[in-house]
Amino acid sequence: MKYAKHISELVGGTPLVQLTSVTAGLTATILAKVEYMNPGGSVKDRIALKMIEAAEASGELLPGGTIVEPTSGNTGVGLALVAQRKGYRCVFVCPDKVSQDKRDVLRAYGAEVVVTPTAVAPDHPNSYYSVSDRLAKEIPGGWKPNQYANPNGPASHYETTGPEIWADTEGQVTHMVAGVGTGGTITGTGRYLHDVSDGRVVVIGADPAGSVYSGGDGRPYLVEGVGEDFWPTAYDPTVPDEIIAVSDADSFAMTRRLAREEGLLVGGSCGMAVEATLRYARRLQEEDPAAAARAVIVVILPDSGRGYLSKIFNDSWMRSYGFLAADEGATVADVLR
Ligand code: PMP
Repeated sequence: MKYAKHISELVGGTPLVQLTSVTAGLTATILAKVEYMNPGGSVKDRIALKMIEAAEASGELLPGGTIVEPTSGNTGVGLALVAQRKGYRCVFVCPDKVSQDKRDVLRAYGAEVVVTPTAVAPDHPNSYYSVSDRLAKEIPGGWKPNQYANPNGPASHYETTGPEIWADTEGQVTHMVAGVGTGGTITGTGRYLHDVSDGRVVVIGADPAGSVYSGGDGRPYLVEGVGEDFWPTAYDPTVPDEIIAVSDADSFAMTRRLAREEGLLVGGSCGMAVEATLRYARRLQEEDPAAAARAVIVVILPDSGRGYLSKIFNDSWMRSYGFLAADEGATVADVLR
């Protein structure tokens, strides 16, 4: 009989699928790595497993301990499902821009959720960083994985995501594109692909316009899980060869196209990463058509669209921000941009 002993054993090993509709006119082979097929529904299961196992090994997390983490939801799900098996309590701190759906999911896994305001500086006492620090310190047996600084985040991608991409493409991958949140995915996966290919694989980061990674000042954007207003140590800025900034409007328009045209109901950071991928592929095709025809570009899709049904996939929410224009035909501003 073939079965896992626990759902947490099924983390990783996600498939690649070719994008064939949104890529019309492009000669490159563009493959999406579908991370919503992880048991917790996102790429974050990978870092959750590795961070917990490393903290157990180092003695930072003791039996019966409490895991306290600031998380936009996905890391929380990963931590909660590993914690369940191992008997830890979970307390998660979320900024209020995170959808109600995502908070409900965390509570469904048995975690406690504390909500903090989005519109305060990271060093403000009510920021989700400060609140989680205080809880981790004051709850007995508290341990904060700190995905923004924990080297086991990028390490999990170096050990799993990178090798999976290399094996599934039989070493033919030429480019890898990932959104940057904590920076763990791009740092670990990109570093592995650089190492294994002797620097041949080009690593491209996708970032919401306004975020620091693409030269912004941290001005707000609506796409969740990516972009920052500070520089986390989980991110090694020497890994990406290029960073492409994408607006909320373009990220959400592409997210909706992925559901409608590719059968991929994915989150907003996926639309952002695919939009960056297509821009890169278009530019490569103009500059070097032969290289574009040979290119095998892997883009990582971090999570599912189920957590965004009341936002990106809701027409009145989209209209309230003026985001539906892209679907209804270009405005003068779109044309002149
Ligand atoms: N997309 C989503 C939806 C996420 O939750 C995250 C994690 N914050 C990312 C992308 C970015 O991944 P990373 O933190 O590894 O940069």
